[in-house]
Amino acid sequence: MDDCIFCKIVKREIKAEIKKETDNFIVIPDIKPSAKTHLLIITKNHVSDLKFAEDNLLVEAKNLALDLQNELSLDEFQFRVNWGKLLEVNHLHFHFMANFN
Ligand SMILES: [Zn+2]
Repeated sequence: MDDCIFCKIVKREIKAEIKKETDNFIVIPDIKPSAKTHLLIITKNHVSDLKFAEDNLLVEAKNLALDLQNELSLDEFQFRVNWGKLLEVNHLHFHFMANFN
């Protein structure tokens, strides 16, 4: 989608610190973090929301979250997907959060 900020980040038209990249996802820091560790796991293809996500994408996002947990040596983390008005960008993404205090 032309006016989608996440699509532009995926296409490198907007600069972002890409922490990790797989065939179907990129991982970037949230620009408005709610925790010391707050990453966004964003689909490379434009999927407008969870309703339209293929099951394999959800499994892959979960595995990516578990990889991040290992890489960052975290005992616990929150893995969140927003819906409705909480969805600030209408492009499927998961919040990976840890180190709350
Ligand atoms: Zn998009």
